[in-house]
Amino acid sequence: MLQTTAAMARLGTETAFAVLARATQLEASGRSIINLGIGQPDFKTPEHIVEAAVKALRDGHHGYTPAGGIAPLREAVAADLAKRLNVEIDPGRVVVVPGGKVTMFFAVLMFGEPGAEILYPDPGFPIYRSLIDYTGAKAVPIPLEEDQGFAFSAESVLSRLTPATRLVILNSPANPTGGVTPREEIDRLAAGLEDHPRVAVLSDEIYSQMLYDNQVHASLLHYPALADRLILLDGWSKTYAMTGWRMGYGVWPEALLDGATRLAVNSHSCVNAAAQWAGIAALAGPQDAVCDMVAAFDQRRRVVVEELNRIPGFRCGTPGGAFYAFPNIAGTGRSAKDLEVDLLEDAGVATVAGTSFGIYGEGFLRVSYANSAENIRAAAERIRAFLSGA
Ligand code: PLP
Repeated sequence: MLQTTAAMARLGTETAFAVLARATQLEASGRSIINLGIGQPDFKTPEHIVEAAVKALRDGHHGYTPAGGIAPLREAVAADLAKRLNVEIDPGRVVVVPGGKVTMFFAVLMFGEPGAEILYPDPGFPIYRSLIDYTGAKAVPIPLEEDQGFAFSAESVLSRLTPATRLVILNSPANPTGGVTPREEIDRLAAGLEDHPRVAVLSDEIYSQMLYDNQVHASLLHYPALADRLILLDGWSKTYAMTGWRMGYGVWPEALLDGATRLAVNSHSCVNAAAQWAGIAALAGPQDAVCDMVAAFDQRRRVVVEELNRIPGFRCGTPGGAFYAFPNIAGTGRSAKDLEVDLLEDAGVATVAGTSFGIYGEGFLRVSYANSAENIRAAAERIRAFLSGA
């Protein structure tokens, strides 16, 4: 019998991938499945970005790069943050990693161990909880409420801090809810955190450009008082439809930079060199494709909310960001998991149970609207027919 660590037994997973696998299997058997389960743009990576990677390969960028990323890419990240968020950061603090997830992995590995506490959003991206459990730290959920539009409340975060708290994980715009935390609430949170100088913050801002109704992104980078303990997580996956390229970055405070770089050297050495050149083209090149994609998501957002609210037993607020709706399905009388399974197996619609994102996700379903308006309407029609027993 092989003996793996107890920590391995605590490692969770991301159910969305299991739903995708089952949906693919059902499709292969001839079933028609509308996929509202997966969290990735249904667009192709813009052509000029692909071309930059092809050129990099032809130009001979085939070797290892510095662990934190090539200098022009880190400079491009700093320039992008300056342009978008009006913040000045030293490019040397940028660590490029294979996907947004890796910054999260490093941050939790750095702070998690038995005896430590880490706060994380619930419902929230499932990997936060999985990694905290892996390290043996205590995972302390920050419950997000439907009637607050699933925004963080500063009070709710601050009231959960204890002398054992080492790290607070925040995510806005959020997966799975589409919730956006208003700037005033982040102001209050940042002010409150000034009384807790030993608490680090991981701000997952991977959906920072997927905001609607002319909202301006409220980044945690805007708070100088947090600069020496803020880890910013962002990346290319969502903004540039590059989920398969595995490109993300962290902006690390000086004190943690060496640790992040050593973790990179110990795990992946560096990110695929050609992908890094593509990353430069994405940030420095034309942004029209991003605008077009966000405009398309905005249109679908309206469709999805309208359609979901027409399903008996469903109630859905309007999400302010990302590309997820998170309807309350309690009125159907079914649990989230039962509904997820039944909708996939019987109605041919892939969604993800709210409980895949934490216990506070019971009674909700995550519906990704990274699909055409036509498919969203057809999916809602299938759900209505299924629930009415037709
Ligand atoms: N953070 C959040 C909130 C996400 O939803 C995701 C992906 O779904 C990630 C991070 C990870 O992104 P990546 O695919 O770049 O690792």
